[in-house]
Amino acid sequence: MMCQGTVLFFKFIYQEFYETTSAPEQGTLFQLRNVIHRVDVSGGEGAVDKFRAHYAFIMDCLDAYILGATMKVMELECLDGMPVKWRPPPLLKTAEKSDQYQWLTKLAQEILEEHVKLDKDKNLTRMSEVAKEMDTQTLSVQGMFDDDLQKFVCTCGKQYKNLGFFKRHLVNKHNWLFRDDEDPTADTCTSECKSDSVANYRASFMKNALILRDTYDAYSMCDGGRVVRNAKFEFLCADVRKHNKYKLWLWRFMAYVIALLSPKQAYEYMWNCASNTIGGIGRNIPNDNLVELMVQLVKKKIREQGSNFTYASAVKAALSSQVQDEIKQNLQQEIQQKTKGKSRTKTNKSVDIEVMVMELIKGNLFSYIPGREFQSFRNFQDASERVNLTKLHTWVTKQKERASFEML
Ligand SMILES: [Zn+2]
Repeated sequence: MMCQGTVLFFKFIYQEFYETTSAPEQGTLFQLRNVIHRVDVSGGEGAVDKFRAHYAFIMDCLDAYILGATMKVMELECLDGMPVKWRPPPLLKTAEKSDQYQWLTKLAQEILEEHVKLDKDKNLTRMSEVAKEMDTQTLSVQGMFDDDLQKFVCTCGKQYKNLGFFKRHLVNKHNWLFRDDEDPTADTCTSECKSDSVANYRASFMKNALILRDTYDAYSMCDGGRVVRNAKFEFLCADVRKHNKYKLWLWRFMAYVIALLSPKQAYEYMWNCASNTIGGIGRNIPNDNLVELMVQLVKKKIREQGSNFTYASAVKAALSSQVQDEIKQNLQQEIQQKTKGKSRTKTNKSVDIEVMVMELIKGNLFSYIPGREFQSFRNFQDASERVNLTKLHTWVTKQKERASFEML
């Protein structure tokens, strides 16, 4: 179960990697779905309506991609083969847990470097540098605004009412350079033309699916720190796919945690992202989900009251429903009756995953061949490379202004 926000990030993954093609090209999610006959996976609106099936499919694909990448790194011929590289030390099986963990982490790091981080985070670093530069510029322009005159006053004494004219003056007379004047597409092609679109697709999918898995895990462990960290990536994705409501939601979430609340409040807000109604580690659900569940419960109670329903009875139902639910669950546990719908039969996915791994290897998904393309994913670029930073910066600046008098 996931909160509204994360569901949209999930939708983003389907839009990005599944729906852009109808041609089953080797290694794409669409082709993998056909190979393993996941008929309940349809993409589009179905991704949210039949959430569980679609989520499971993405996770299985991710597992297949991870296994394929591991085989490449270890130079394995098949899943049961003997690795040429990264052969586990002979006594690893009986070694201390911490030693096993260390070895595994190193291997995972190698896979991450070679198959997921294709641009070695250059793009994100560049983006944050440019954003910082824009911030300084905006701040210094705003600093030249005179509150009494209600005008921008330049260092040379000239006054402007209009921001656009003032900026033009700064460019023409003082040699300022504003990013918004630059052509955003100017420098993308020269470096990108010879890249491997297929490898970009693979790396981008692995990255985003890993973020999705991590967010899901962060919510179920109620790990506020990770939820905030992942929100930053999800924010960029929402921007690229123009999920505006979600973008705003994420922005406000981060604004509250980072800037608006007091340290104590921020800490509480961050770590109250999920609740646990059934007990046990890793069984939390996001709070907006909990609200949704409670709303359903109360609605049901009100329906049961039929024509006897009044405002007062609705309030009573709302206040008592959680307690009633708890009593019901306790009773059920006492008589050791299995709670309905709480456990689901687990199907064995390993066969599916093995088939998918073989498809990925056949499609040479884990090599880097400059100039290669999927026919239906021409010039595929990771979402982070498609962010229009000037537009985003203008948006964030506007939101900051609004937040200064609207929020809290
Ligand atoms: Zn001037």
